[in-house]
Amino acid sequence: MSMKKIVLASGNAGKVRELNHLLSGYEIEIVPQTQFNIVEAVEDGLSFVENAIIKARHAAKLTGLPSIADDSGIEVDALNHAPGIYSARYSGEGANDQKNNEKMLRELNGVPESKRTARYQCVLVFMRDGNDPMPVIAQGSLEGRILESPRGTGGFGYDPLFWLPDHGCAAAEISLDEKNKISHRAKAMQALLQQLKQAHII
Ligand code: IMP
Repeated sequence: MSMKKIVLASGNAGKVRELNHLLSGYEIEIVPQTQFNIVEAVEDGLSFVENAIIKARHAAKLTGLPSIADDSGIEVDALNHAPGIYSARYSGEGANDQKNNEKMLRELNGVPESKRTARYQCVLVFMRDGNDPMPVIAQGSLEGRILESPRGTGGFGYDPLFWLPDHGCAAAEISLDEKNKISHRAKAMQALLQQLKQAHII
C-alpha cells in the first residue's frame, strides 16, 4: 500500500523527524514544503492560530496535498503575553536568540521571581486541502518562569532563560530527548494525532 503524503509547512528537519516518528504505524509520510520549492507564506495573522492556518493553507494550495503547519512562541505574563507571535523577531531588525533573550531580561528588570511566569505555546493545524472550511486545530503549552540570567547550552530560542519548575533547571539544561517528551510542540502533536484519528482522517 502506498503512503499518503502530508506536506509540513516548515523546512525544519527536527519537526519533520518528530512528526514522522509520531505517525509511524500509519500509512502517512510527512514531506517538508522545502521539497516543493515554494515561497514561504506571509505570516501576517494576529494569533498563533491565524498564522498556522495561513501557513497550512498556503502549503496545501501550492502542493495539492493535505497539510500541517505549526506556529509557536513564548508568552510572558508580566509583559501582557508578549512577545507571543513575535517571539522570533522580538528584538526587531536583525533579531537573533541572544538579542531576543537580552531584550527579555531588560524588559523584566526588577520584576520579582513570583511574577516572572511564562509559557511556550504551540498550535498545529491540519487542512485536508487549500479550501478546507474546517481545519483541525490542536494546541500544547509548557509552563515555566523567566530566569534572571541564562543557564545551559542546549535547546534554542528562549530555552536558556526558561526555568522548568518540575525539572529544577532551565530548558537549555535538559537533553533534546527529554525536551521532545515534555515540549509544547510534543503535546500539540499528540493532541493533533488524537483528533485526526477521531475524525477518521488517519
Ligand atoms: P517557530 O515555531 O520556529 O516559528 O518558533 C517561533 C519562536 O518562538 C522561536 O524563534 C523561538 O524564539 C520561540 N520558541 C518556540 N518554541 C521554542 C522552544 O521550544 N524553545 C525556545 N524558544 C522557542
